[in-house]
Parts: sequence; structure tokens; C-alpha cells
Amino acid sequence: MPTRGEPSVAASGEWRDEEGVRLPAGEAHAWWPGTNQTLCGLALSRSRLRRFHHVPWPDVFPESGGAADEVRRVCPRCRAAAGGRRPGRRWSRVSPRP
Ligand SMILES: [Zn+2]
Repeated sequence: MPTRGEPSVAASGEWRDEEGVRLPAGEAHAWWPGTNQTLCGLALSRSRLRRFHHVPWPDVFPESGGAADEVRRVCPRCRAAAGGRRPGRRWSRVSPRP
């Protein structure tokens, strides 16, 4: 089975950066695109979590600097399930500059 890479983010809120990219805010959970629940078992529809296909899970950790600016809480159960930063992962912006 090929590697699935890393999960994306589902969060309780959202904002847009100066380039208009939707980014997670509030409480962040890990989520595999194509499924309808978070790694900790919350149903996305019932919890009203927003999905961020384009935001990889490691980017919500404050130390990553990627998409963590407005994230107030990272779900500890998702963090345990998905793992934290992947060592050696190269940092890249989600959206390419024009
Ligand atoms: Zn969670």
C-alpha cells in the first residue's frame, strides 16, 4: 500500500491570509481527505468543522510557522494519532506566489 502522506486539517474557524488563502483558526484537528471524521473521531458535519484540503496537518503546529497563526488549540488526540512534525520535511508555502 502506498504511503498516504500526511493528513490535512479540519478546524473550528477560518481566516484568509493576504493572498486570499483560506487558513484554519480556532481548534484544529487532523483529517484524512475523503473521510468524514477527524482522527480523534469527531464527525465533521456534526462538529461543524471546516475542511482544509490544502493545509497539511504539520502546518498547524506553532513551531512550523506554516498555518498556525490563528490556531488556538491543536487537538491532543489528533496530535497523538497523527504525530507531530515530520523531521526533515522541507518548509513550503501552500500557495505559490504569482
Ligand atoms: Zn481531534
